[in-house]
Amino acid sequence: TSIETGWNFDNSYARLPRFFFNRQNPIPVKSPALVVLNEQLAASLGLDVQSLKNEENINMFAGNQIPEGAAPLAQAYAGHQFGHFNMLGDGRAVLLGEQIDPNGDRFDIQLKGSGRTPFSRGGDGRAALGPMLREYIISEAMHALGVPTTRSLAIVTTGETIIRETMLPGAILTRVAASHVRVGTFQYAAAWGKDEELKAMADYTIKRHYPDIEIDDDRYLTLLREVMKRQAALIAKWMQIGFIHGVMNTDNMAISGETIDYGPCAFMDTYDPATVFSSIDREGRYAYGNQPMIGGWNLARFAETLLPLLHDDEEKAVEIAQEELSGYMEMYQSYWLSGMREKLGIMNEEQEDQALIDDLLHMMQKHRADFTNTFRALTLDRPEVIDMKGIKAFDDWYAKWKARLDRQEGTQESAQQLMRSSNPSVIPRNHRVEEALKAAVEQNDFSVMEKLVDVLSKPFAHSPEHEEYCKLPDATNIPYRTFCGT
Ligand code: AMP
Ligand code: MG
Ligand code: MG
Repeated sequence: TSIETGWNFDNSYARLPRFFFNRQNPIPVKSPALVVLNEQLAASLGLDVQSLKNEENINMFAGNQIPEGAAPLAQAYAGHQFGHFNMLGDGRAVLLGEQIDPNGDRFDIQLKGSGRTPFSRGGDGRAALGPMLREYIISEAMHALGVPTTRSLAIVTTGETIIRETMLPGAILTRVAASHVRVGTFQYAAAWGKDEELKAMADYTIKRHYPDIEIDDDRYLTLLREVMKRQAALIAKWMQIGFIHGVMNTDNMAISGETIDYGPCAFMDTYDPATVFSSIDREGRYAYGNQPMIGGWNLARFAETLLPLLHDDEEKAVEIAQEELSGYMEMYQSYWLSGMREKLGIMNEEQEDQALIDDLLHMMQKHRADFTNTFRALTLDRPEVIDMKGIKAFDDWYAKWKARLDRQEGTQESAQQLMRSSNPSVIPRNHRVEEALKAAVEQNDFSVMEKLVDVLSKPFAHSPEHEEYCKLPDATNIPYRTFCGT
């Protein structure tokens, strides 16, 4: 039963005003089969790994059976998609409820690909196996890289075919998140709700994600500031590992500060701020180098939703919000700079650090250096494998950097240790991810993915065994492209 498995649901979201969701069950599927189970995550949630593999739980992962204590619902939200405001909502997902883990922490358990809802618009409510495996691989890699993120508990295939450009096997991903409250949730409340509903969501969010500020007199302004901080910190982390989210619409920005919605995301190989992988991002709105700025744009949309809570007088409220938002870029910059210092083993602050970092990045861009491997080579003290070695500008930079490290207190070992824990050896490189998906989807061989997931769970191990996973793809003229909505 649910209780033996360890399911321990509460349903705080379902206690919000009815305006925020539609109560409904997932739509059952033909013949569920469990293909991936995240045993470590399961255990940390207080779930019994063996019983998760029984028929009852597989049916639960498929949406065919509702675990005891769950109160399934589809969330309503809105969002700016590539700058255009739309009514959205869970069109292919259902929140089963919130698992309270053994520490008392609360996690959304959501089925993604669970069938049509009132928010499906033209869509079929379903998901294909390939993209769900992709979300699993990349979200778990992000977690191991130390980036706040939603996680992936399980994937079942449905035994049903879904129709896209071709026929694809259907699948359902069980997603685990601090919550699914988005900037778009607030936009929905601000656009169509009453002030009480907006306030209910703001209070709910504070209680769930920012409990320390609950007693604050200015708590809605503090909420804005705290959300800004988490987003600035999050995007700085993305930048430091070469992650490109790909679809930073306001509905895909979680108020908790977790990375959410692994659709067209991908990791950059060659360092170039203009890098875009998403096939639908034709103007490069969500290019690697634009991410910090887009974060600020999205936060401005968030601030707009809070205006009625900031001051009774609208003009005053706008002034307050603008004043707060004006600090975002500096906030981001400071997270970014301290993270970049760590990547270079720098433990104190000097005025010229920014220039030192910028110089390296400019050179990397000019010489099309691999982002991850360049920092890896510096970390492992193997400058000879950096393609730029021998170019005078780089050799000068390298000497300057070494001199910078010599100037700081602390041993060389501690600087190197800092670099080893800041610069991953392995990231989910696109060709590796594709290889794993191909084996799973076309040959029903999940071993390639399992091995990849295992390697990606130790990105800072710098193990010689992982050498294979540091290699670049064969040269090709065909740019890598990603897709969302499959
Ligand atoms: P996304 O681009 O993943 O952020 O999704 C944008 C919106 O489209 C959300 O409201 C999704 O629920 C909805 N959506 C995406 N795929 C489907 C689908 N296959 N069926 C119904 N709705 C979908
Ligand atoms: Mg989304
Ligand atoms: Mg998506």
